[in-house]
Amino acid sequence: MKVICSIEEFRRERAATPGSLGLVPTMGYLHEGHLSLVRRARAENAVSAVWIFVNATQFNEAADFAHYPRDEARDCRMLEQERVDLLFMPPPQEIYPPGFGTYVTVEGVTERLEGEFRPEHFLGVATVVTKFFNIMQPTCAYFGQKDAQQVLVIKKMVADLNIPVEVVVCPTVREPDGLAMSSRNVNLSPRQRHAALALYRALCLAQEQWARGNKDGEAIRRAMTALIQGEPLARIDYVSVAHPETLQELDRIEGGALVSLAVHIGRTRLIDNVVL
Ligand code: AMP
Repeated sequence: MKVICSIEEFRRERAATPGSLGLVPTMGYLHEGHLSLVRRARAENAVSAVWIFVNATQFNEAADFAHYPRDEARDCRMLEQERVDLLFMPPPQEIYPPGFGTYVTVEGVTERLEGEFRPEHFLGVATVVTKFFNIMQPTCAYFGQKDAQQVLVIKKMVADLNIPVEVVVCPTVREPDGLAMSSRNVNLSPRQRHAALALYRALCLAQEQWARGNKDGEAIRRAMTALIQGEPLARIDYVSVAHPETLQELDRIEGGALVSLAVHIGRTRLIDNVVL
């Protein structure tokens, strides 16, 4: 695996590497969820590349950015084991040099859910993803369904700006008890780790109700909310049963729905979703 930290060097490497490049964008502190994307990128492309960059512009709170877990040496070892070809790990000033002032705004799908609770989050995501697409010139880019709204935002941006990249979405990888894998899980105490299961239990409840023929979006939202409120350590940002493309909240579920939620467990904010 080649570890590259400068844009110039990555461009040279890319120019010398013919064939399709499969890219996995991450913020590091890797887990099996990330590795599932990496394996897919390797299997489907001539060259596999991972970027690790904790992108300050997509964090709303300085404290959240400061507490984001990091372990570059461990990440490198994991990616070596996966036999990744290229790891791009630029320092912040390489991506945001002094005087940087151009941002990518995606309208519509950014306005609800995460966009409502984390203003500017998707501005940071869309901008950094555009920059990395320009630098790394991937053929395919692999994203996790775990961040369902991010997938919609990237797909819209790629379509609207005619970016020649195929966006590939991979299923959410979970711990054996159902908790969605996340770099942030490491910040949970044992008691909080237990409380965090409320997210998965609420999503399962939605699936059960749907399977039993309940098509009432509001009733499902209420049942999920009550379940999570039963967990004293949980504080809800949102519980949503929405149209899977427009993200408009649904009263009645006709075609299908994206059921998603964001919940604080102590100082850790977790998100998860299922598609009905
Ligand atoms: P992050 O490092 O959290 O920004 O995530 C990098 C990529 O990995 C994103 O496309 C995420 O959606 C994806 N990802 C994170 N957690 C999981 C998971 N549990 N299962 C599948 N993909 C994931």
